[in-house]
Amino acid sequence: MRRYCKYVKPYLPAFIIGPILMIVEVIGEVVMPLLLSMIIDSGILGDRGTAYIITMGITMVITALIMMAGGVGGAYFAIKASTGFANDLRKDLFNQIQKFSFNNIDQYSTGSLITRLTNDVTQMQHMIQIMLRLALRAPGMLIGALIMAFVLNARLAMVILCVIPLLSLAIYIILKVAFPRFTAMQQKLDVLNTTTQENLTNIRVVKSFVREQYEEEKFKKANFDLKESALSAMKVVIFTMPVMFMAMNVTTLAVVWFGGKQIIVGNMTSGVLIAFVNYVVQILISLMMVSMIILHGSRAFASAKRINEVFNTEIDLTDKNALYKDKTVQFGKIEFKDVFFKYYKNSEKWVLENINLVINPGETVGIIGPTGSGKSTLVQLIPRLYDVDRGEVLVDDVNVKDYSLKNLRNGVGIVLQKNVLFSGTIIENLKWGDENASEEEVYKYAQIAQAHGFITSFEKGYYTELGQGGVYLSGGQKQRLCIARALLKKPKILILDDSTSAVDTATEAKIRKSLRNELKGTTKIIIAQRISSVIDADKIVVLDDGKIAGIGKHEELMKTCETYSEIYYSQMDKQQVKAS
Ligand code: ADP
Ligand code: MG
Repeated sequence: MRRYCKYVKPYLPAFIIGPILMIVEVIGEVVMPLLLSMIIDSGILGDRGTAYIITMGITMVITALIMMAGGVGGAYFAIKASTGFANDLRKDLFNQIQKFSFNNIDQYSTGSLITRLTNDVTQMQHMIQIMLRLALRAPGMLIGALIMAFVLNARLAMVILCVIPLLSLAIYIILKVAFPRFTAMQQKLDVLNTTTQENLTNIRVVKSFVREQYEEEKFKKANFDLKESALSAMKVVIFTMPVMFMAMNVTTLAVVWFGGKQIIVGNMTSGVLIAFVNYVVQILISLMMVSMIILHGSRAFASAKRINEVFNTEIDLTDKNALYKDKTVQFGKIEFKDVFFKYYKNSEKWVLENINLVINPGETVGIIGPTGSGKSTLVQLIPRLYDVDRGEVLVDDVNVKDYSLKNLRNGVGIVLQKNVLFSGTIIENLKWGDENASEEEVYKYAQIAQAHGFITSFEKGYYTELGQGGVYLSGGQKQRLCIARALLKKPKILILDDSTSAVDTATEAKIRKSLRNELKGTTKIIIAQRISSVIDADKIVVLDDGKIAGIGKHEELMKTCETYSEIYYSQMDKQQVKAS
């Protein structure tokens, strides 16, 4: 909870003024019934006359106005403080998620992170708003009304004292049952968000597989589960109101009963009784407010725990202990030394096993192997998207862990297998690689990636909007933009993870040629499915089931590496079938 103090500080004045203004309202509320009893007893039933009634009436109006000012002001500051709090909290939470490593991200579903960023923060915001409005008001009203009741008639006030503990117990039980149900409810909300998010991002796939029905069912279930869990929580909570009203009516009845008798005996005036009934109502309302605070508090507590989980997630990949923070990648040499890696640390099988590999500056290296053999995993270790479990990865003879992440990743341009462009213009997307690139530079690298041609064929050229409301690109066009974007970083090491799979072979050959001619000093690693994509590489690495099955040039591998020749012949067969 200490973590959240930080978010209170900037709004401290509002956090203080709000409740003070609420106190003004409470004082008014407590005084009002007294004024009322005075009008009745001395004005209407007594002999003080009309003038007295009018003065007291005006006093009541003024009190009401002051109360209103207090109430409105209090509400205003409560909203100001709580929205500010939520704003800052959300910002920090988002920043924390940005710091997550790939491994950290793998631990959460996107939907869950979205719920935490939105709904959970909102729950805390509500709680604070309610706290500020009611935290002083409820006990203030309770104590004020109790004191007034005792001052007016101590014996009658005993009736109220009997009811309060019973009522408190009832509220306690209700909330204790409700709390775990709120946690469950937030989890169902996660599922709903994940389902929705996945569906909306992949709506095209859903449609092409005619899976709408299935998706509807899935959504229906998630939605239904959320409703059920909300109902199960609310079912408990709704008991608070009837219990409260019941207590209120019974107490009022008892007060009127005993009070009436006292009036008959002459121990009490009717004005006092009316005031008394008012205080009974106030006391019970204040208890209701307390239960509201606890209710929202317990919801917010469940949410705060979920937010804390994100904050407490240890970022498992940092450059805190880097030895050479200022070092940048100069030459582009890469070396894997006895590298072992797996994603799930308790699984027995290695995803990469005993990898030893040296790639010299400026070399072009092809990586080939069946799907799932660990090609993507291998290259992701170079810019430290994941950390090795054993052994080490060196860039320019320095362990990647000893670079600052920024310098390392600036030196290593990687086009991930699953890559995306963002909404915005083409040039905005390309300039992700280098914000300050001139237009000429952008054109140059787009030309190397064989993207310039199709970009200029668009009416607005480089200023064509992508994504929603803009043009939709073909898979191959997207891949070429992603390559150009990576090239603009001018990295010493360029990794293309299956980045031309959707590009036709002729265009792909052109890309390879221009990469070879224009980026002589850049180390290039090309993962490919087609042997033709890597056939002219300086060396080809063959991966099979997480192990290196062979390293060498095409001709050598054909003779020495069975996995390689198998892939080669299977692809030849297909071509022959096509030709015939
Ligand atoms: P390739 O690129 O050669 O097709 P990958 O490197 O993507 O192979 O995957 C190697 C193995 O690691 C596969 O068994 C795959 O299921 C697993 N894997 C890949 N990415 C992840 C991940 N983020 N979390 C867990 N397992 C993964
Ligand atoms: Mg892959």
